[in-house]
Amino acid sequence: MCLLDVPAHKTGAPFTKRVDPLVGRAIETWEAVRPVQPLRLDPRTGERVPLLFWLRARRVAREYLNHALIPALCRKAGVPREDARGPITSHRARSTIASQLYNAKEPMTLFELQPWLGHRSPQSTQHYTQITPTGLARAYADAGYFARNVRTVEVLIDRESVQNGAAATGTPWQYFDLGHGYCTYNFFEQCPHRMACARCDFYVPKPSTGAQLLEAKASLQRMMLTIPLTDDERAAVDEDADALERLLARLADTPTPAGPTPGEIQPPPGPLLSIKPLRRPEGGRHGDSTESKR
Ligand code: SF4
Repeated sequence: MCLLDVPAHKTGAPFTKRVDPLVGRAIETWEAVRPVQPLRLDPRTGERVPLLFWLRARRVAREYLNHALIPALCRKAGVPREDARGPITSHRARSTIASQLYNAKEPMTLFELQPWLGHRSPQSTQHYTQITPTGLARAYADAGYFARNVRTVEVLIDRESVQNGAAATGTPWQYFDLGHGYCTYNFFEQCPHRMACARCDFYVPKPSTGAQLLEAKASLQRMMLTIPLTDDERAAVDEDADALERLLARLADTPTPAGPTPGEIQPPPGPLLSIKPLRRPEGGRHGDSTESKR
């Protein structure tokens, strides 16, 4: 780590900044090859200060830095002269490093970046720090945004039907546990009615003979499936009665995978789908569980 003394500038007072040793070595090299320069009188503070971009007792023009030196460095480094945000300039470099530090795995806060950039007010720093899409996604994940939109549902796999080939001829072989019954539709996740099951042909009520025969099978394997929920569905499973009514009304004329719409099906009495809360594996991501089906 090297310490760079920065004199007073347009957005703040003099300050000392930590920089990478590479920067320190490059500055030493530049000072060694550059003829000795007089100190410059700073009109803001009345002090005499050494300047880095100072040659023949004159400041190196910003145009030279941005239009000659930086393009030459870009060429040498094999990087394009501009990107989606425009040409690479000295100002962009400062903004980029500030943004990288702000979006790092262990990010610097706005108030830590403020002295690092030498700003008088946090508003100036805010202008430099842009949150990246990756940083935003991580913030969402850390805030539990994704966890609140997924639930797990138990799935029973009838291994006998798979092994004797019956599954290949259309016999149900996986049963999604809806609480009050089973859904035998293979693409349960894609069914728009899954939170307010319309009791279509794919539905097997738990009190029925079919369900009881299934549950008695020795070849039955139980697994957990993590399913993503829409905001409407999440509100419905969170036992928001109004949300559930809205969901039912919205889907009333949407055909079920079996064909008829909920409006055409006579709904039997009984509870609607209840989905168990998501079980997160310790220290893992959603769906990492060895129990998880996919
Ligand atoms: S409507 Fe039919 S396919 Fe959809 S979840 Fe209910 S039983 Fe399964």
